Amino acid sequence: MINKTNFYINGKWVKPLKENTFPVINPCTEESFATISLGTKADLDLAVSAARNAFETWAFSDVQDRISLVTKFVELYENRSSEMGEAISMEMGAPMKLANKRQVTAGLGHMKAFLRAMKDFKFEHSLRADTPDEQMIYEPIGVCGLITPWNWPMNQVTLKVIPAILTGCTMILKPSEIAPMSSMLFAEWMDEVGCPAGVFNLVNGDGPTVGEAMSAHPDIDMMSFTGSTRAGIAVSKGSANTIKKVTLELGGKGANVIFSDSDVEAAVRRGAERVFQNSGQSCNAPTRMLVEKSSYDVAIKIAKEVAESTPVDLSEKDGNHIGPVVSKTQFDKVQDLIQSGIDEGANLVSGGVGLPDNLDKGYFVQPTIFSDVNNEMRIAREEIFGPVISIIPFESEDEAIDIANDTNYGLTHYVQSGNKERTQRMARRLRSGMVEVNGAGRAPGSPFGGSKQSGNGREGGLHGLLEFVEHKAVSGWNLTS
Ligand code: NAD
Repeated sequence: MINKTNFYINGKWVKPLKENTFPVINPCTEESFATISLGTKADLDLAVSAARNAFETWAFSDVQDRISLVTKFVELYENRSSEMGEAISMEMGAPMKLANKRQVTAGLGHMKAFLRAMKDFKFEHSLRADTPDEQMIYEPIGVCGLITPWNWPMNQVTLKVIPAILTGCTMILKPSEIAPMSSMLFAEWMDEVGCPAGVFNLVNGDGPTVGEAMSAHPDIDMMSFTGSTRAGIAVSKGSANTIKKVTLELGGKGANVIFSDSDVEAAVRRGAERVFQNSGQSCNAPTRMLVEKSSYDVAIKIAKEVAESTPVDLSEKDGNHIGPVVSKTQFDKVQDLIQSGIDEGANLVSGGVGLPDNLDKGYFVQPTIFSDVNNEMRIAREEIFGPVISIIPFESEDEAIDIANDTNYGLTHYVQSGNKERTQRMARRLRSGMVEVNGAGRAPGSPFGGSKQSGNGREGGLHGLLEFVEHKAVSGWNLTS
């Protein structure tokens, strides 16, 4: 049993003030393999006070020193990436190949993109060429509370910790208590590369205790939160009394609009694989597949083929299979939603409730396809966070837009068409923070974030750095009297 019961506060590993151990469960075995501690407000207070003290000097530190620290960290992260892959795989069930090739590298890519963005980032500049006396100063916002989920652990942690460090903020990270192992390793590496005491702190804990204490804390200046919309609302409300800045990266229910003038077979295949990857646990998964009527039957056939050729298996095995969902709670939630699809009259094309035939324990879910879904069904409205696709037919571009936008969420929508005028028109009309066209990958450093109840923050690259600074305007910059 791995013991990780201490917290990282003020450059040291310290015991929690009150013992409260918590098991970390391997979702393949349903058994605990490590122990952490759940902290209290008193532990958080120590971390906030360390971060507040460190801020006094870190805020004015040399930018090159901050870049050097992150560069050193990136080297270490790259050299020891297999340890990170193992931690992620054990804590949240990603198969080893996915953990190493996608989960770990997602974090690496973000860190490199931040370093690239720093090359052009000007902390001070005049407002315009014709206003030399009006100086803009981007100053670090202060002590940041960073809360992350379990589904892409290093993706989320790097998107928050790295821009906070680079802009001169100090911070307390509270990773998901369900998948804390990768963040504990991350903290060990921060220590190893010599991050100054108090700049980066880690306190484990649950949402209602440490998470809510962070939101309400008078000495935390900003909350950067990624997780469910439910918890995002709690963070917003909890932060309101102290008027701190709150950035939110929340859930999604992406529409993937497939027109008949696209390469339908490739588009359906790509869309289905995208949902099944990470066992459906991606906020930007294109889980509502909207297909033009004339291609509807062929889309169902291809989606079924993809579902039936997606193996589900143990994470420790090599291969391109998918692993379990993260926890019993998630498993039960996904099963309930699959059952609701059946009960509400959607057509179950493949998969369904219960474990896959080859497995008798673990939180494994069958890749599941529903057709004849309408946008009022729970499987079309709620974020399932499992390998489940709802196929919905449409007849016209206007109808596709109406269905796609008829959701509380607005994270990523997808368009597939051979007509550039149409894809660009759709990209403008879809209400979401991101639109992906014809399978194009996102450029490194492109801002990630949503609209509506998917949140209000932008993470990654230049936009991600800007979230962590105050915009101070100084007039009379060159005046001497
Ligand atoms: P969750 O909201 O249950 O937990 C996320 C984090 O919030 C955890 O660290 C948890 O301890 C904490 N938390 C829970 N309640 C809290 C509260 N009241 N106050 C403060 N903190 C609280 O979400 P999850 O189940 O871990 O993650 C899945 C969710 O995250 C999905 O909805 C997914 O779409 C979303 N997500 C969004 C993005 C994005 O960038 N938009 C990325 C990844 C995941």
